[in-house]
Amino acid sequence: MIHFEYAGYYGYNPSIFMIHDRSITGPESNTSRISRVSLKYGIPPTAFVQHYLNDGKALNREFFQFEVATCLNSCTPKTKRLERQLNILLGVDSDKCNSYSFLEDVVDSKAHGLISKQRKWCHLCYQERRDKRRPFDNSNAIFDDLYWSMDRINICMLHAVKLSSSCTWCKKSQPYISTTVEIGHCHYCHAFLGNSNTISINEQEWLQLREVFTLFYANTYSEYRPRKAQLVKNLKALRSIFPSATSRYLGDAMGVSEDIVRKWISGSRKPQLDTLFLLQKALGLFGPHQLFYDTQVFLKKVALNGRIALKLNKKSEYNSLMLESRISKFLNGVIAGQHEPISRTKIAQRFGVSESYLQRRFSGLCQRVSDALSEHRFTIRSQQVLRIEYQMEQAVSTLISKDRTITLENALNYFTQKEIIKNFQDYELLVFLQKAIDTQKAKRKKNRSKNIR
Ligand SMILES: [Zn+2]
Ligand SMILES: [Zn+2]
Repeated sequence: MIHFEYAGYYGYNPSIFMIHDRSITGPESNTSRISRVSLKYGIPPTAFVQHYLNDGKALNREFFQFEVATCLNSCTPKTKRLERQLNILLGVDSDKCNSYSFLEDVVDSKAHGLISKQRKWCHLCYQERRDKRRPFDNSNAIFDDLYWSMDRINICMLHAVKLSSSCTWCKKSQPYISTTVEIGHCHYCHAFLGNSNTISINEQEWLQLREVFTLFYANTYSEYRPRKAQLVKNLKALRSIFPSATSRYLGDAMGVSEDIVRKWISGSRKPQLDTLFLLQKALGLFGPHQLFYDTQVFLKKVALNGRIALKLNKKSEYNSLMLESRISKFLNGVIAGQHEPISRTKIAQRFGVSESYLQRRFSGLCQRVSDALSEHRFTIRSQQVLRIEYQMEQAVSTLISKDRTITLENALNYFTQKEIIKNFQDYELLVFLQKAIDTQKAKRKKNRSKNIR
């Protein structure tokens, strides 16, 4: 106890146990921290949890299979309490997040379906972590990422491979905290869990999943804490720009009762994890994290992806913002070659704004669209020139073989596609005619000399 007194006296946080912080992007899970600290101090995990986190009350071994993760890695009120206790024991900031407790404000307190029944791991991460074992640090270098305990995530965010859930040798699934062996090894046969077959996933799919699961794999959970108030504010703002985006509309789009949405908005109920995913999908967002964005950003994301095909409210304070987003999306689409370039006048007509407004608000983009338009016109014209040259040669050849007078009018009569000359003046066509005559003459001369030889 002297230790505590001195610590308090000197003003630093008293800790009993110390382990090195391990994380790459997302944090280590609490169950992993417990495994490591138990090993380092030679305390059986059962005794550690029982004594320090369960007020000395006995726990059966079954508890370490799965329940321990629902207590320590989830976002229930119990998680929050145990995590604080653990943080104090480890002498770190008591708010440090090594669980999903940062979701406590936005996910219902039972956190249904959040934690996977089976422990999962990436064998490549295990290999790398084992190899990085540092000298003078006798705690295990291998640790479990928190997001591996999330039920919906089945891939490694670093390696784009499927997570494993059973030992390659004895095929058994693993408890979240092994009471027999250090982390990274099979609880039953003690084999290293880093030797497994690699099942890679398609890179495109991996990038997409990384986006979908941003909320569960954030860089620092301590800075990034989603708030329910923000979600409510965003849904209210959504309603103000799309008057038809009622609770019923959203409920229908998500396949849940309108009552659920109404209760979220009134604040009487927190969403379930599943419904957050449904809502994100219904609004065409990339992941549930975007539901908690700042309102202006949230609205832009929703309006731009166009999933909600509802009429805009002309009077909404966000209306001009929406219009601007749509125009800028269109202009960028033209520059990226997704839409055919059109003139500024036509763009103005399309969005019901004046040309000077376009110039004022989007001068840079407008300039690039004009460039794209000129380039587009140039390409079209070059293609037409090629076609005219070809048809002109055919026509002249026919006129010569039929021994008819070569005039522009006669030649044009043989054009199979008359519309291609629409954008050309007579004097330009005469140049093509002369060129065709010269080519034909040259060809015939060549043929004659061939015949003579
Ligand atoms: Zn990995
Ligand atoms: Zn095994």
